[in-house]
Amino acid sequence: MSNTSMQLNRRDFLGLGAVAAVGAMGLAGCAPQTAPEKNLGETGAATDAPTAADWLGVEPEVAEGDIVETLDTDFLIIGAGTAGLAAAGAAADLGLNFIVCDKSNQVPETREYLGGVDTAYAKANNVTIDRPKLLNELTRYASGKCNQKLIKRWIDDSAEYVDWVTEVMKDAGKEVMLDMPPAHATGGTDYYVPYVQHLWEPSYVPPTRNDVIAERLAGQGHEILFEHKMVKLLHGDGKVTGAIFETAEGMKQVNAKNTLLATGGYAANPVMMQALQPSAVACCTASSFNPTCTGDGIKAGLWAGASKDKDAAPMVFDRGAVAPGVDAGYEGTDESAVFRGNIFQENIGSQPFMKVNRHGQRFANESTPYDFVCFAATYQPGGVWCQVYDSNMMDDMVRFETVGCSRVVPYIEMGMTFDEYTAASQESGILMKADTLEELADMLGFADQDKDNFLAEVERYNGFFDKQEDEDFGKEAYRLSAIRQAPFYGCWFGGSLLTTIDGLRINENCQVLDEGLNVIEGLYAAGDVSGSFFSGNYPEYIVGVACGRSSVEGRHVAKLLAGAA
Ligand SMILES: Cc1cc2nc3c(=O)[nH]c(=O)nc-3n(C[C@H](O)[C@H](O)[C@H](O)COP(=O)(O)OP(=O)(O)OC[C@H]3O[C@@H](n4cnc5c(N)ncnc54)[C@H](O)[C@@H]3O)c2cc1C
Repeated sequence: MSNTSMQLNRRDFLGLGAVAAVGAMGLAGCAPQTAPEKNLGETGAATDAPTAADWLGVEPEVAEGDIVETLDTDFLIIGAGTAGLAAAGAAADLGLNFIVCDKSNQVPETREYLGGVDTAYAKANNVTIDRPKLLNELTRYASGKCNQKLIKRWIDDSAEYVDWVTEVMKDAGKEVMLDMPPAHATGGTDYYVPYVQHLWEPSYVPPTRNDVIAERLAGQGHEILFEHKMVKLLHGDGKVTGAIFETAEGMKQVNAKNTLLATGGYAANPVMMQALQPSAVACCTASSFNPTCTGDGIKAGLWAGASKDKDAAPMVFDRGAVAPGVDAGYEGTDESAVFRGNIFQENIGSQPFMKVNRHGQRFANESTPYDFVCFAATYQPGGVWCQVYDSNMMDDMVRFETVGCSRVVPYIEMGMTFDEYTAASQESGILMKADTLEELADMLGFADQDKDNFLAEVERYNGFFDKQEDEDFGKEAYRLSAIRQAPFYGCWFGGSLLTTIDGLRINENCQVLDEGLNVIEGLYAAGDVSGSFFSGNYPEYIVGVACGRSSVEGRHVAKLLAGAA
């Protein structure tokens, strides 16, 4: 396939530097305040975790006299992120009468990968996707706790959306590409890793998708109403007829024939997180989420009679670099609670190097989707782990050839250095470097028996590399590495929380359902506020499926209302 060479030519080396910058600075600028790092001992578990009664609260009362302005529309889109912009983009093209609002003062940061199946670009490059297999793979990730017809909606409709974005981005001077590593085994078992991950190069240089779509909307005469925070839906008799917004001018009412919730998940709501996502809380150290995603749409939907997924689904990546001794979990239990680590993702955390717990012992196959090691760490002291490698790490990473946003091979081939790749953890002093393994163990905080365990574990792991067989966890031989060549490196990690992907139950037309699975008339949900798609985890090997399904769902609602679906 010609794409590899094209990929290397077009990949912007500086773009990866920007990944770290976005992770370290962009998110630090907009994420909740962090608490100072602190060693809270080995358990780290929050006590008195909030319950549903605490997080849902009661629907606010808004007196008629408090409404300073009333607007009327056919289609109200609440949230101008991935899903909301996709809905608005289609609504504008289809001539719908609509209003789009967001509580923030700008559209959220665009996420790099957009998943689409059998797009024009993929077809032109002879990519084939086994659609039934993909449907059943996503269903398997969700343990069946999903609406397969909704998943099929993404599989069947995503090409049309990606092709639309491709044209829109082309007008803004950006070209689509498919990021395609060679197919190879991973995780010690068979995963389906289809080529669905589209991005627009250079992917971290503006304008990005959200900006381009927002500007296009403005050009079509549709301004996004920013700083409009939806506080409740207008509802009664199983029907939703609009919403009420808090604005700088006072409360505004928008009467709407149809309303789309596109308000994202609840990762920035620690009370909901503790009540609904105990496993994610137990392994996370870093806040990588959009701080305006506080679960407002889920609450409003429930107040209006909707039902929610029974089980949670977090998006957690294995990159929350922390200082030795810092536990995973929140400091505090109320709405001001914060994860104890720094606010940044260190991408090298997703490389399948040896990882050990606080006792210096390996505890899982490291060659899996990002969240597996995070969830496995909830069974380990402090919910954190330490990643260790030696000075051959760049060669190791080329051999590992990971997929999605942990993929570094093109950058390494273009000259990216280790120092550039790990700049954030080096600058913060939490990446340890030593000339001997004994010294490294001390720097990482291993003492007494734990230090002995650590040194023995490195020895054992080196033996597995020599034998090309992981006798403990069945990791593929090509993802083993030797730890023999000084200097040696180690860094502690927890999970970084990106978003939540469980939400209001919807049917394949994105209509919100009540507990009896009846449609709530006039109410739709798309993206992370909606559920019925994921459960328990984020299927990271289906790269870009989160933005993919959010966009397709949003676009589908607009098309449905325009009679074009
Ligand atoms: C760092 C990071 C990287 C990611 N990378 C990828 C990737 O490469 N590929 C991928 O597929 N997925 C990725 N994701 C996940 C992806 O971004 C989300 O799944 C997707 O954006 C969800 O779209 P959404 O429209 O539901 O939410 P968002 O895009 O988050 O938009 C929700 C909007 O609703 C607004 N809002 C919230 N409450 C209210 C309210 N009360 N009133 C009005 N407006 C409100 C918010 O301000 C926000 O603008 C990433 C996530 C993060 C955090």
